[in-house]
Amino acid sequence: MASHLLPTYARVDLAFERGEGAWLTSTTGEKYLDFTCGVAVNALGHAHPHLVQALTEQAHKLWHVSNLYKIPEGERLADRLCEATFADTVFFQNSGAEAMECAIKMARKYQSAVGKPERFRIITFDGAFHGRTMAALAATGNKKYLDGFGPPVEGFDQVAFGDLDAVKKAIGPQTAAILIEPVQGEGGVRPAPTQFLRALRQLCDQHGLLLIFDEVQTGFGRTGDLFAYQHTGVTPDIMPIAKALGGGFPVGACLATAEASKGMTAGTHGSTFGGNPLAMAVGNAVLDVMLKPGFLDHVRKISTLLRQRLAEIKDRYSDIVADVRGEGLLIGLKAAVPSSELVDALRAEKMITVAAGDNVVRLLPPLIINEHDALEAVKMIERACVALSRSHAKKAAS
Ligand SMILES: *Cc1c(COP(=O)(O)O)cnc(C)c1O
Repeated sequence: MASHLLPTYARVDLAFERGEGAWLTSTTGEKYLDFTCGVAVNALGHAHPHLVQALTEQAHKLWHVSNLYKIPEGERLADRLCEATFADTVFFQNSGAEAMECAIKMARKYQSAVGKPERFRIITFDGAFHGRTMAALAATGNKKYLDGFGPPVEGFDQVAFGDLDAVKKAIGPQTAAILIEPVQGEGGVRPAPTQFLRALRQLCDQHGLLLIFDEVQTGFGRTGDLFAYQHTGVTPDIMPIAKALGGGFPVGACLATAEASKGMTAGTHGSTFGGNPLAMAVGNAVLDVMLKPGFLDHVRKISTLLRQRLAEIKDRYSDIVADVRGEGLLIGLKAAVPSSELVDALRAEKMITVAAGDNVVRLLPPLIINEHDALEAVKMIERACVALSRSHAKKAAS
């Protein structure tokens, strides 16, 4: 039967019924190792007992009240996010793209509030991904995604990723901010060099611009720190986050300093659902787990283990894997064959992964994955490489 869902996704013919930790069970009863995590969302794996408890307890109490009233769980989550980061203030949303919209509006409003209303343009980078709403899409700048949707939102100037001279040249009298992902996720797991991020910070300070780090994908322990900016020594002014914030419950947020957010006064922005009690209860529960001593050490330990084993695989199967890169448990395998072939071969081994730009396969295991399952993943990757290597050799011979 044809699907009544809008066909904007080329979906794999595979559905899941339940999950536990790093494992998913399909509707046909097969087990898959989840190295996608709903694209960096289920950072605590599936059915984490603490999250299940927080959600069900809140579900029995109160789901939604709107932002017309105080939401104590949201006040608490904002306090804790500010305590854990550079930020002084938080606006909750329902998705990454919305958090991004808030960041864009905030940067423009800041310049207006400090008497520079002519400054509305934002410098962005090739290979970026910031979401699918109209402004986030313009910031993304990917022609494939913009095509046919009319004139893109004005005010985004895209330059080459890592090209400081290009950034300097792009700064003009209308520039308001610079927007970058500390590690490009969709763009192919490309970490921005720390030196480059430092130089962007200096340029922003020098020119009165705001620095926005899109940590929608890199946030919440994915790179081995709670947020990726924390190991760069560079602090942004505004930081949209989302994906793992709710561990699978849809929630996003825009974090900012008091200075950067000073234009966002009562009535300037809003959201019906943003920060509702269900989302806030789960967000707090995610933080309970991630802020426990040793949580991030575990992420780093598994990352080191995986990276070592993947480097060996790359050496042995250089005809399949050309490079291993990334940070923490945001790992990219640059494929030497079309990346979709590697994703398919991994799925045949019962491991699910997701392709990214630059012919990269992203490995996004849950951060709670244990050593045993990480080594199981390495075996699956090795078997997929063997299978692909054989089929390519056969093709070459015939
Ligand atoms: C996924 C993502 C977004 C968009 O988030 P949605 O929740 O899909 O709107 C924005 N920025 C980055 C870096 C992302 O990875």
